[in-house]
Amino acid sequence: MGGNKRIVIAIDGPAGAGKSTLARRLAERLGFLYIDTGAMYRAVALWALRSGVGLADELRLAQLAKEAHIELLPGGRVWLNQQDVTEAIRDPAVAQAASQVSTLPCVRRALLDKQRAYAVASSVVMEGRDIGTVVFPEADIKIFLDAHLDVRAQRRLRDLERAGQPASFEDVRRELAQRDQRDRNRAEAPLQQPPDAVYVDTSGMTIEEAEEVLLKLIRDRTSNGKA
Ligand code: C5P
Repeated sequence: MGGNKRIVIAIDGPAGAGKSTLARRLAERLGFLYIDTGAMYRAVALWALRSGVGLADELRLAQLAKEAHIELLPGGRVWLNQQDVTEAIRDPAVAQAASQVSTLPCVRRALLDKQRAYAVASSVVMEGRDIGTVVFPEADIKIFLDAHLDVRAQRRLRDLERAGQPASFEDVRRELAQRDQRDRNRAEAPLQQPPDAVYVDTSGMTIEEAEEVLLKLIRDRTSNGKA
């Protein structure tokens, strides 16, 4: 992908659609920076939980979001205030808390500035819920990744088992459905498909298959003068 122009690839979709894995792999293949914005909301939520800040305490949460020193390292490790929190932020309780603090406009505003700053110096693959709609409405390529709820729950269950945190399918499915519902219906930057995004349902695909589909889509779009 030649030229000096920085490219933004925006990937949005519900939890468990494959965004993180695919965005990370695509970024590696393309030599772009991989930005997991969900990890940023999770880091703020973790800090709130650990310091006893209430999840509806807007003032203090806004302060935490502004002051949080979040580092997204190559390979997907996440540091918060000089501490490795990669595993800690994957806890299902942190996911729920992230989905709560992310409804607050002041928290979103603070993280938005950090997210935009990443793309100043580098081409990025950024994934989340509002990347193509709010963070980068002018993104070069927008992808909306989706999958059936049962498939997404199955994938999340496998992630948890691998991390040594077995859970029941029903609990995981309920947790995902609840979070989707909150993310889709909030007033500020809700999860929705940008009109100019390409919709990809990964339900019947392996990660490798989905990766090839997305890579082809990106290459087609970036080689015809559009980006
Ligand atoms: O993607 P992940 O599941 O790690 O995100 C955790 C939560 O953070 C989501 O459920 C959502 O509430 C919030 N989030 C958001 N906007 C983003 C990324 C994540 O509101 N761009």
